[in-house]
Amino acid sequence: MIFNVDEVRKDFPALFQEVYGHPLAYLDNAATTLKPSAVIQAISGYYSTINSNVHRGVHYLSGEATAAFENARENVRRFINAEHGHEVIFTKGATEAINLVAQSFSATNLGRGDEIVVSGLEHHANLVPWQNACRSAGATLKIIPFDEKGEISAEQAGAFLSGKTKLLALTHVSNSLGTLLPVKEIIQVAHRMGIPVLVDGAQGIVHCEVDVRALDCDFYCFSGHKIYGPMGIGILYGKERWLEAMEPYQTGGEMIKSVSYQHATYNDLPYKFEAGTPNVAGAVGLNAALEYMEGLGKENIHNYEKYLLAYTLKALENLPAIRIYGHPGHGAAVISFLMEGIHPYDAGSVIDRFGIAVRTGHHCAQPVMDRLGIPGTIRASLAFYNTTEEIDRLTAALLKVQEMFA
Ligand code: PLP
Repeated sequence: MIFNVDEVRKDFPALFQEVYGHPLAYLDNAATTLKPSAVIQAISGYYSTINSNVHRGVHYLSGEATAAFENARENVRRFINAEHGHEVIFTKGATEAINLVAQSFSATNLGRGDEIVVSGLEHHANLVPWQNACRSAGATLKIIPFDEKGEISAEQAGAFLSGKTKLLALTHVSNSLGTLLPVKEIIQVAHRMGIPVLVDGAQGIVHCEVDVRALDCDFYCFSGHKIYGPMGIGILYGKERWLEAMEPYQTGGEMIKSVSYQHATYNDLPYKFEAGTPNVAGAVGLNAALEYMEGLGKENIHNYEKYLLAYTLKALENLPAIRIYGHPGHGAAVISFLMEGIHPYDAGSVIDRFGIAVRTGHHCAQPVMDRLGIPGTIRASLAFYNTTEEIDRLTAALLKVQEMFA
């Protein structure tokens, strides 16, 4: 393997700390990832030098900040292979991107008797905005159920689409079970019926090669902080024709062409959807994160994660009285499990004392847990800076938990 994890770890200062006297083992990457020094320095560099508001000033710093901001947009475009830079909208995260589409798209496209379809695996961020949009429009929200392995086929998805469906919204990778959905095939099925598709890529962008043109999705969104970038910045990609036809999500400065006391005309894309002062430092930090990943090589990263996932699954399967949910062999490096007779919260609290960060609970996917009939799971979500030694420490801690609660 070309990937030298020990060298890579040196880029992440947060890894070199102790928690309760143990070296930190950070296995909560689906919630947020650690940041490489390149990202921390890019943010600090922006505030230490070219800090300025964008698109407004004639002065030197404003020009530099605008160039850095627009350079970040261009690099995001390239990273996801969008056709135009103006199809890339900066938001504060995946949640805001989905709310933007749920409100703006629905305002002109969703009416009484229409339907929005989502998958049964969605994070609340790709569920609640659609509940609200449907309530406001008098439309119905339909849910595509997942099977016992946590999967949804294109055929199953297609069965829930009809002439009434105005949009299909689904996750690329489930944050609670790690399932990788066959989004390309599902999009093909939806498009044959003329239905646009939004893909929630909050987890997908981290673990998959994303090419929005090859996927042919109509919208794709993600958060910077889950892909080694800063918090408070995210991306909405939308096909030009949809974005052009949509009304702005928020109004105010930056998003206008001209304003009188009674009326305003809106700016062109992408600015129409970027009201107010944007998170320039966030965009600069996200840019550094994407460049950092490209420097390591996305394929190297994904191959290493697959290796680590296989190692983790084998280690967990060898433990007694463990139940793994979903079918993680087919998914991304996110593993949800429970130990017989032990509440996930209790297990998580003990594991924490060994310096190991895992997440316990419903993972903002309460309906998924309800459907599985469980209160929540223990979730270990891996990144390319994790090691097999850390997985060994996790399995040792799990054995300890079982001993304590026996
Ligand atoms: N969608 C998925 C699949 C997620 O995992 C998350 C966060 O965990 C979100 C959306 C929401 O992301 P954010 O809170 O960064 O907006």
